[in-house]
This record gives sequence, C-alpha cells and structure tokens, in this order.
Amino acid sequence: MVLTVLALILAGPAPEWLARAQWQSRVPRAALVLWQALTLAALLSALGAGLSVATLAAYYDRPGTGMLILHTAAATFTLLVLARLLWAAHTLGTSLRARRRRHRQLVDLVSRKDHRAPGARVLDAQEAFAYCLPGLSARLVVSSSAVETLNDAEIRAVLEHERAHARARHDLVLEGFTALHNAFPRVVRSRAALDTAAGLIEMLADDAARRRAGALPLGRALVRLADAQVPAGALGSGSVSPLARIQRLGKPMPPAHRHLAAAVYIGAAALIVVPTLTVAGPWLAHLATFG
Ligand SMILES: [Zn+2]
Repeated sequence: MVLTVLALILAGPAPEWLARAQWQSRVPRAALVLWQALTLAALLSALGAGLSVATLAAYYDRPGTGMLILHTAAATFTLLVLARLLWAAHTLGTSLRARRRRHRQLVDLVSRKDHRAPGARVLDAQEAFAYCLPGLSARLVVSSSAVETLNDAEIRAVLEHERAHARARHDLVLEGFTALHNAFPRVVRSRAALDTAAGLIEMLADDAARRRAGALPLGRALVRLADAQVPAGALGSGSVSPLARIQRLGKPMPPAHRHLAAAVYIGAAALIVVPTLTVAGPWLAHLATFG
C-alpha cells in the first residue's frame, strides 16, 4: 500500500512540483541526477508494490480464492509493467538508431564542408538551424543560412554547444527518460520529467559552450536560432526553452554551487535508498520469516 502511494506520488505530483523549482538552473548536472533518481524510484516503487501484493498470499497457510486472484492479478500487472518498460526501451532504441543512421547517410551525401564551420557539415537551407546527430559517429550539422547570418564567434559557440551534446552522449540520457515515460500508464505519468530533463541537458551544453566560446556569442546565436526546427532524433541548439537559457546566459557564469549541488546529490541518493530500505526492507524481512 505504502509503495503504491509512493509510486503514484513519484510518477505524478512530485515531478510537477520539482519542475517548478528555480534552483535547478544553478546546478543543472545535480538536478539531472535528481530527476534520474526520481523516475527510477517511481519505477522501483511501482514494481515493489506489485511484488508485495503478489506475495501477500504467501503470508497465509490456506489462502482463499479471492486472495489467489489478487495475488495472480498483482503478479501479472508487475510483469506487464516490467515487460512494457523493456519493450519500450528496446523499440525506442532501435527506431532512434535506425532513424539517425538514415539521417547521417543523407547528411553525408548532400552536405558540404565550410571553413567557417570547422568540424561541421553544412546543409543548404533557407532556415537557420544547427543540430547534433548523436551516436558513435556523431555529426554536427548547420544550415547555410545559419553560417551566413552568424559571425565566426557565434558559429563557434553553437558548434561547441552541439559538440558538448555529442561528447556527453546526452541522447542516451534523454532516451532513458523517454523509455521510462513510455513505460508508465498514461493516467499516472507526467511529462514534467522528460521536459525538464531536456531543458537541463541544454543548459549543460550551454555551460560547456560558454566556457570555450563565451556567453555573449552563444546568447546571440541562440536568439537567431530560437525558432529553428530540429529533426526527430537530433539535439538542436535553440529549440528547447530558448528564453530561459538566453536569460541565464545574460548573468555571469554561476560560481560552483558546491553546497547546493551536494544537497541535491544527497536528495537523489535518499530517493533511491530510503524507500527501498523503509518500505521494501521490512517486507523482505517479513517474507524471509514466512518463507
Ligand atoms: Zn542543444
């Protein structure tokens, strides 16, 4: 029962509440870990709840028919959630990789190199855009229009941003959030985790880019690319919460908020450890005595 309530809170209201917390932009990396812990804790609680009901029947010497039905239903539900998660992760990963492979082949075929965008592929297009096609052999893609409208410093800042995505494999982090999101039933899940994680990942890439290329050129480039449409499966420059990020770049680079970050990491660890110990622990002990 406690695990069920916990799972529902962690999958619904908790993400909505955390999504509104302003401090996250000061420690995006720690905040991202907290979000991972939150979604994982929600999944653990859901599976734990199903398992604990499924094993209730074991507490009784001669369980009644009702108890046996409940037991079977809970076990089936738990297995379904788990199967759904594994299936979601598998199909998502396969389709994303296939889509990116085709996209990469196309880019390699029709793009050209340009000395003003070193390390990137330039596509002829009217719209200004820049994105990273992640993967083992990632591609940084910019449009000819972006190369024309941005100055050298701005192009460099944008490419550093995309390079940060490719280097840190932000696509895998996002993939994990998407798979977990798809695994939860529609009525209880919230988009907050997925959307906030996408925003935090952009902030992490922004921070890497501003350390190498400066905040001003990056901010100006983000303004120019704010309306850019990014193909599915790619990580774009200006498409995710551009306003909040531009405002953030306007302020000086935040000093390392060590205490805040430490507190957030401790919170993330507690999210995983405390529910497991306080709720699942006694249940496991109980099971051991009866078993
Ligand atoms: Zn980005």
